[in-house]
Amino acid sequence: MRDTSLLQLALGIVPPWTVRGSDFDPKVRRLDIHIDFAVGSRFACPSCGAADCPAYDTEQMTWRHLNFFQHQAYLHARVPRVRCSQCGIKKLSVPWARPDSGFTLLFEALVMALVSAMPVNNVARLVGEHDTKLWRVIHHYVERARAGTDLSAVSRVAIDETAARRGHNYITLFVDIGQARVVFATEGKDAETVAAFADDLAAHNGDPEAVAEVCIDMSPGFIKGTADSLPRAAVTFDKFHAVKIINDAVDRVRRAERKVHKLLAGTRYIWLRNPANLSERQHAMLQSMPLRHLKTARAYQIRLAFQELYEQSSAKAGAAFLKRWYFWATHSRLPPIIDAARTVKRHWDGILRWFHSKIANGLIEGINSLVQAAKAKARGYRSIRNLTAMVYLLAGKLDIKPAA
Ligand SMILES: [Zn+2]
Repeated sequence: MRDTSLLQLALGIVPPWTVRGSDFDPKVRRLDIHIDFAVGSRFACPSCGAADCPAYDTEQMTWRHLNFFQHQAYLHARVPRVRCSQCGIKKLSVPWARPDSGFTLLFEALVMALVSAMPVNNVARLVGEHDTKLWRVIHHYVERARAGTDLSAVSRVAIDETAARRGHNYITLFVDIGQARVVFATEGKDAETVAAFADDLAAHNGDPEAVAEVCIDMSPGFIKGTADSLPRAAVTFDKFHAVKIINDAVDRVRRAERKVHKLLAGTRYIWLRNPANLSERQHAMLQSMPLRHLKTARAYQIRLAFQELYEQSSAKAGAAFLKRWYFWATHSRLPPIIDAARTVKRHWDGILRWFHSKIANGLIEGINSLVQAAKAKARGYRSIRNLTAMVYLLAGKLDIKPAA
């Protein structure tokens, strides 16, 4: 078998395309395969599909292909523009690559498989291509998959923000709780962000008015955004966020009291944890303290009690419990706890909504770890756009179909 026939079979190239020849240079570890079409070949029109269009002119093009063993491989071909009697002069697309891509479909499929498994920078080094070229491939497949995604069933949404770069920009994730996947991710964390989600939902066959339940933190931006853009949604305030507000108040009480009670030094993490999660050493430390005389200990008890809200058997029991808790907290004579209790009061209905919706952002823990993985894989990602593409790829359950 001649090497051209072998390459032709291996590449799956069919007439009118043929492999005309190849140059192999082991010194530069490179295989160049030259593809051509026979003089007088006829092609189907890329617009209307009409058969038997003649070539009008050609453009020489090159594509990176899968390695030939350890050698980089490139395909070369002159790509014709064809003359269609209906459509005029149209550039042909070749069967082995997308228009405007410098990679073959198989090479792109390899890239998409690799970037799901390791950081894009590492993939770039491995295949010997600049990462911006790989990001272009990732964006293409992610955008194409997102364009085809159907969001008509989205009715319960968890909204959560995550820092995109340490301390700087934020991206907000919109998770369809029904399918446990990120359906939208965008820069920012305010009312506009929620409006952008509603637009995107409508653009993908979804209906902002069909969103019945939303879980958010207590930030005014998300509250306003939900009211403006998801008008029929009942709001549940994320229980982890609510507990965190009380927890922060406990920490403020401890910081103030530490100035008079030296034994509180080094106890910060004891008060931030639940008793069941304390180490033996922390437990012993806690037992050794004059708990009845410490404001911090009282604040801690109030926080533990708040958590019991979520163990109440019904919405009615929950509401009665929260009322008693509020009375206790506001009579604690601990200003940070009183502040936190007032915050709870202002978000009363949304906190109690949990008894109906039973949704919390913590339920999307699996999603959070995928988002962390996306951040790691997009390390040095250069832009928020790259990060969001990686979030979609890993946490979006998209139907990515390279080489199709
Ligand atoms: Zn045509």
